[in-house]
Amino acid sequence: MLLKLRQVGKKLYSVHLPSFVNMKFKEVLSWCFLFLVLLLGFTAVSVAYLKPSYLLDLLEISPDRVSSAISKISPPMRLDSVKHGIFGFLLGLLTLEPGYVLFSVFTSVLIDLDHAPFLLGLSVPARISHSLIFLSLADIGYLLFFRKKELVFVFTSSFLLHMALDKLNIPFLSPFMLSPQLPHWLRPIFVLLSFSLNLLVGRSRLREVMRVLHFRV
Ligand SMILES: [Zn+2]
Repeated sequence: MLLKLRQVGKKLYSVHLPSFVNMKFKEVLSWCFLFLVLLLGFTAVSVAYLKPSYLLDLLEISPDRVSSAISKISPPMRLDSVKHGIFGFLLGLLTLEPGYVLFSVFTSVLIDLDHAPFLLGLSVPARISHSLIFLSLADIGYLLFFRKKELVFVFTSSFLLHMALDKLNIPFLSPFMLSPQLPHWLRPIFVLLSFSLNLLVGRSRLREVMRVLHFRV
């Protein structure tokens, strides 16, 4: 994209805008949509893997059941969502890309949708999709659908920070192994890794801006 900036004498100064300005909101929505499809799909398959009859149970949605599940969302859980949202936002800022900031906040908060089967009363782990297997499948999904390495970085970053904020109290090989077994010393490494990934994205975008943003006489 080329924008005219100003005319000085006979010289016209212009600037190329970096590609991120062209990023469409629709594109960000499609990333978020894929996230929801993958998360809900993985959650349902995991529930079915643990107990096939639970799958039918999961589909029996009634207003009473939904309101009972919602009533189980305690104030600390709501506060937790706010915390994840704030950290997702700060993490996303490192990418220097508004679309990735939105995506980071969205995934940081909504990964907790996997609590739904537990809240609906099924005997499954609450964090059933807080799993490195889900992370791997989702990353492959993003590579296949969007072919954007940066998107994989941003999603992985958001996932790792969320897990660290959950104190690694996660069934990290769910649905095959259900007990949280990650050592706590991994927490700072997850945090460091998540910030490093988004910093890498931000650095490459900054380079792109420096390279593309030039004035022509
Ligand atoms: Zn969580």
